[in-house]
Amino acid sequence: MLDGRLSSCINHPSVSATARCKQCGKPVCGACVISSPLGSFCSDACRERFEAFSKRVQELDRDTTRARWNIGTKLRQFFSFLIFVIVVLITLGVIGTLFDIPVLSQWVFVFRAWFGI
Ligand SMILES: [Zn+2]
Ligand SMILES: [Zn+2]
Repeated sequence: MLDGRLSSCINHPSVSATARCKQCGKPVCGACVISSPLGSFCSDACRERFEAFSKRVQELDRDTTRARWNIGTKLRQFFSFLIFVIVVLITLGVIGTLFDIPVLSQWVFVFRAWFGI
């Protein structure tokens, strides 16, 4: 995680850093590090900034989930429309097969020939 350039603590140049601030990326030693459930930070200011940032990310995630749900609803509407169209076509096909209706029966036989039914 730590690279050669930033291996000493920002507050103690002679002490090796043990962690890197998750907010600003500065290396800190064990005495300077501020630990939180979200990770290690160089200062309380950085920890607060990161917490505010991750809260925003969570809110964005929630918005994205809601948007995805909307797409799902639209898809369902589209599929119910598709099923409606298929039912209408089958009904027309049955009518066109059973009764000799000009134009309709002609088309029904063309489609039946296409699909081999
Ligand atoms: Zn920091
Ligand atoms: Zn330090």
